[in-house]
Amino acid sequence: MMSSDSIREALRQVCYPGFSRDIVSFGLVKEISCEAGLTTVCIEVQTRDAKVPEQIFQDCHAVLDKLPGVGSVKVVIDVKDAPAAGGHGGEQVKSAMPGVKRIIAVASGKGGVGKSTVSVNLAVALVATGAKVGLCDCDLYGPSVAHMFGIHARPLANERNQIIPLQAHGIQLMSMGFLLDDGSPVIVRGPMAHRYTQQFLLQVAWEDLDYLLLDLPPGTGDIQLTVVQTVLVDGAIIVTTPQEVALIDARKAVAMFEKVNVPILGLIENMAWFECDAGKKYHLFGEGGGVREAELLQVPLLGRIPLDVLTRERGDAGAPVALLDPAANKVAAAFHAVAARIRAAVPTA
Ligand code: ADP
Repeated sequence: MMSSDSIREALRQVCYPGFSRDIVSFGLVKEISCEAGLTTVCIEVQTRDAKVPEQIFQDCHAVLDKLPGVGSVKVVIDVKDAPAAGGHGGEQVKSAMPGVKRIIAVASGKGGVGKSTVSVNLAVALVATGAKVGLCDCDLYGPSVAHMFGIHARPLANERNQIIPLQAHGIQLMSMGFLLDDGSPVIVRGPMAHRYTQQFLLQVAWEDLDYLLLDLPPGTGDIQLTVVQTVLVDGAIIVTTPQEVALIDARKAVAMFEKVNVPILGLIENMAWFECDAGKKYHLFGEGGGVREAELLQVPLLGRIPLDVLTRERGDAGAPVALLDPAANKVAAAFHAVAARIRAAVPTA
């Protein structure tokens, strides 16, 4: 007869379908019992995709059936319905997060495409529409939102041991960057990263937010899965640059969100062109990649943001370009237009 510990160990070979993370470290394995001649494994999974439990069932059998001494194997999968995603057609669905009406993920297929720049400026532009806005930097490995808001303070906890977000430009902010020393390396892996992220999402005392923007790490890995499994995400925005390599990864990000039933609100094409003082536009990373991609994927193109020196400078200085008057600055205007589209696509009232 096998011990439940050795069964649990063996189940580490089974990954959540489409991800590199195993079902044990995700905490999906709820019960293991080993009796003479019968091994029973109970797994709980939250999804609305019937293929997910089916795949886990098959993979568990593939691993367990060949173990010596297990006897017959019974895999029981308890499928919990994932929370319905709102945002499409203006359905009124409240997020499960206290104090937050709508949660929007800002994602990118790869790093360096300007996802944090977009998150920060979009947050500022949403505030200008009169919304109450929070921004949570979920990137444990490269938190940059704190820097882009020029914040170096550390947040305090309230009497319920929740972290009180910091404030900048009228936005409630939470970032891994607030808990780290400048330049200290972050060595958080696997289950630890999973727990940190959950803690981030669930232990912050957000106060009366219309929109919480989640700045996700680049790519389609485990943290992204943790986020969408922890909170009800109303929609995702994918940031990309126009060149093919970025678009390929953006496509993967779109596919990932579709797999977990998070509606894609649309693409934002960043660094779309550079305009010189004489007004001539240079398409440094190719022309119209985001436009074509949005058509191909049949998702809205929410906006096109040029490559712009002031945008970079103001990002570095902690004073996002979207703070400028949109009548006087084209990039600010572009971000304000994106904010208006988001408000229309994800209404809060
Ligand atoms: P990501 O979050 O995707 O890794 P960042 O937002 O950190 O990307 O941007 C990477 C760098 O590019 C930063 O230095 C940022 O200031 C700069 N950047 C992003 N978008 C623009 C833009 N539209 N124009 C000029 N610089 C930009």
